[in-house]
Order: sequence, then C-alpha cells, then structure tokens
Amino acid sequence: MANQEDNLFKNVIAHAKEYGFIFPSSEIYDGLSAVYDYGQNGAELKNNIKEYWWKFMTMLHENIVGIDAAIFMHPTTWKASGHVDAFNDPMIDNKDSKKRYRADQLIEGYIEKLEEKIEKEVEKAAKRFENFDRAMFVSTNVRVLENQKKIDEINEKLKDAMGSGNMEALKQLIIDLEIADPISGSRNWTDVRQFNLMFSTEMGSLADDTNKIYLRPETAQGIFVNFLNVQKTGRMKIPFGIAQIGKAFRNEIVARQFIFRMREFEQMEMQFFVKPGEEMQWYEFWKEKRMKWHNALGLGEANYRFHDHLNLAHYANAACDIQFNFPMGFRELEGIHSRTDFDLKNHEKYSGKKLQYFDPEDNQNYIPYVVETSIGLDRMFLAVLSKSYQEEKLADGSERVVLRIPAPLAPNKVAILPLTKKDGLPEKAMEIMNELKFHVRCFYEEKDAIGKRYRRQDAIGTPYCVTIDHQTLQDNTVTIRHRDTMEQERVAIDSLKTTLTEACSINNILKRI
Ligand code: ATP
Repeated sequence: MANQEDNLFKNVIAHAKEYGFIFPSSEIYDGLSAVYDYGQNGAELKNNIKEYWWKFMTMLHENIVGIDAAIFMHPTTWKASGHVDAFNDPMIDNKDSKKRYRADQLIEGYIEKLEEKIEKEVEKAAKRFENFDRAMFVSTNVRVLENQKKIDEINEKLKDAMGSGNMEALKQLIIDLEIADPISGSRNWTDVRQFNLMFSTEMGSLADDTNKIYLRPETAQGIFVNFLNVQKTGRMKIPFGIAQIGKAFRNEIVARQFIFRMREFEQMEMQFFVKPGEEMQWYEFWKEKRMKWHNALGLGEANYRFHDHLNLAHYANAACDIQFNFPMGFRELEGIHSRTDFDLKNHEKYSGKKLQYFDPEDNQNYIPYVVETSIGLDRMFLAVLSKSYQEEKLADGSERVVLRIPAPLAPNKVAILPLTKKDGLPEKAMEIMNELKFHVRCFYEEKDAIGKRYRRQDAIGTPYCVTIDHQTLQDNTVTIRHRDTMEQERVAIDSLKTTLTEACSINNILKRI
C-alpha cells in the first residue's frame, strides 16, 4: 500500500472509532483479533445498507423471497456441502518473523506485482506515442510479453496445486519465485499445511465428537436446505430466488485489514434457482444487476470492476468477483457464482430426501441449477465509509472531515439544532423534532456554538441540519444546512417533512437501478 493510501486507511479506522461507528470487540480486555463491534452510528449505517439490499432483492423482484435461517445446522450439512473436507486454506509460517500467511495469497501478491509492472510499461508507452494502441503494444513489447508469459505460467501452476491440494507444489512455487516474507524479508519458510476454516463447538451437555457442530461459514447452506420448504409453501415457480442476511464465521489464517477480513462477519446472499442449461444466461443477468445496484449508490463507477475467477471453487462452473477500490487497492467485495446443482444434489445424497422441482411446463422433475450473489455486509460498510470519508480544506483556511454518505444510508438524516439554549428555541426545536422523528431519523443537540455542531454532524455524515433561530418564532421558518455544499436555505417548517423524507428515502437510490 502506498503511503498516502496507508495514511488514509489509518485515518478512516481512527475516525470510525472516534465517532461511534466501529469499536474493537471487548476492547477493555485489549480486543479480540479480527472481531469488531458496531457502535451507535455504525449500527444505523449497517442497518441502512441491509435495507438497501433487502428491498432491492425482495421488493423489486416479485420472484425473490427472504428467509432467516439458524446459524447452527445439522453437522451433515457441512459434509454434504464439502466444507468439512475442502474448506481449507493453505497456511505457511515464516520461521524467522514467526508470521503466518496464506500460501496462495503470497503467490497472488507476486503476480499482482508483475501485473503492476506491465501496467507501468503500458502507461509509459501511452505517454510516449500519440496514437497509442494498447493491444498492439502488449502484443509486441518484449518485456511485457515476458512478464505476461510468466504470470500465465504461475497462474497455471497455482491452479494445479490448489485444485489437487498439492501443498508441496505450492511450497516449491514459493521457493522458485524467491518470495520473501513482506515484513522481515526472510525466505526461511515452513512447509505448507491445509487449515480448515470452520469453527466448531459442542451441542448439548456431552463434549464428545458426536455432538460436534459448526458455526456456519456461509449463509448459503441455510437456503439450500430450505429450498423445498420455501418453494412449496411460497408456491414458487422456477426461476426464483431466496435471499438471506446473516452472520457467518471463518477462522481466517490472516485477518489483518480491519473489517475487510473478520472471523465473525455478515453476509447478504441470494440463491437463484434456474432450469439446468439456463444458468449462464442468469449468471450474466445477475452480474449486470448487481453492478447496477452498486453504481446506483453514486460512490463512483471507476471504483468497481469485475474479476473473473481462474481457480474455480469445487462447486462452480463460472464465477467472478465485483472488486471495489478499497484504501488498500482493488479487492473482492462481492462474489457471483454459478454453483451448478452441486449443493442440492449433495444434500439429496446425504439426507436421502428428494430436493427436486416439478416443472409443469416440461412435465418433468429436475434438480435446479443455482446462480448466487454473495456480498459481505461488513465489506460493503467499509466501501461506503472509506469512499465517503473526506478531509477538506475550506475557502476560509479551516479544515473539516466530512462523511459524504449517500443520504438514505446516513446514520442520522437530520440534526435539529436550536441556535441558543434559551428564549423558547429548544421548545420550538423539540416541537419540530416530535413531528419529524416519525419520518426520518433525527438527532437533537443544543450544546456548543452552531459552527462546532455543524462540524460534528459533518463528521458522522448527517446530510441535513435544521437550525431554529429567533426568526423561527415569528414566521415559522428554519434554515436547512446541506452537508455537502454547506449552503443554507430558509424554508417553511411545513415543508420539512416532505422535503426531507423525499431526499432521504432509499427509494431514490432503488429507482436508479
Ligand atoms: P476472500 O477471497 O476475500 O477470502 P471468499 O471468496 O472466500 O473471500 P466468499 O466465500 O465468496 O468469499 O464469500 C462471499 C462474500 O463474503 C465475499 O465477497 C466477502 O464480501 C464476504 N467475506 C468473506 N469472507 C469474509 C471475511 N472473513 N470477513 C468479511 N467478509 C468476508
């Protein structure tokens, strides 16, 4: 991470704590690694992101319904899904620094650096030649060609080693590429070992292996095991989807990037059940829809990109990520996977229960194929928070930190601020608040100078401040101060409800999709 981005990330993390968005878990005991709590403002922002997703899925699509399955599931679920045998990451330790890494990520980091080298060559050439043709340059430049060939070879070896679970081959690749520990620079590595990411615990009073159950590592399986329940009780016809928001747990080997990689996190997943053979068309459909959902928020289209998976998971026949430009660079925000009939077929096999759909049009039974969209709520939170965070120098030389959170997602929509604590202004302000609070989330404050109060609201992303002054008592008008422009306008109290509810409604964003 370049220094500037590094500092930005540090500032965002500090700001999140100082203004009640995110606290380290059990901080009075020095915290728990890669576990975080959401504070008073964080919880509101998180709920608003959930609402944006939930409404998009279940209200805008008449063929998608939502459920809320339990975190604990019958342990055979995880055998059938492949998680007991294959939900592993390859782990490697550096003997000198004692730091632990994911072996595949060390190799991917090496590939990323080669890709950056290629991009730099391309940028340099683009500056040199007037009629620059990227494709032509890439296909003729020797250095670029060599690096691209190297990337392809490494990718191929990585894919083979990961696909066959060959840990020796992974270690050999790290040695051959002379990959060093990014912290100590040492190349003194242990062997690569498989590490299962599922947390387990015991159910009931006997702590033996027969009572072993897992904390779900993904919410998807709660949907698969309920596929027939929902299809039958909801009289759903294929194609249809089941959506869910809920906690997932993974004992991540390396969990260092704030809420980007946590051991307890939340997912928003939707499994879309389709007729076999039609999955690729639905895969493309959901790729486009999900990108539109992201872009409608207005965080900047250039901050998103698709990244196709080269190493497909055991259950997928096509998969890609939507990557977001986080402070540490482009990283996965959401996954879109064509999961075939892998899960339902295996649940049929392990449970002995039929999990098939009778298609009245074709007059036949089949196991549907599944296209899933899976986004981390916490990563979405980090995307919104980090892109909204801005340090600004104002025309008068002062500075402010402002969170330009899209208004419908902001923790508080309106701050109600009486100019002074006397002359009946607080009473009038409370009167306004008591009317508005049924429509938009309000925040009341009467302490400190008005300028200071505006700054505090900027720092938590409140899009509107309503100020009650002496003129209010005479003509029933107030000023609305806009967070982003800092402009103020005088409006009638009577107009507040309609204007503010309209400006802060999630429907505004949904209609852009
Ligand atoms: P990664 O490659 O980053 O480990 P993944 O491919 O294992 O992620 P999926 O299994 O596809 O992730 O999970 C779907 C989504 O859940 C991801 O796109 C991400 O947003 C979120 N997610 C996964 N693991 C974590 C985690 N440890 N902390 C926070 N969010 C996570």
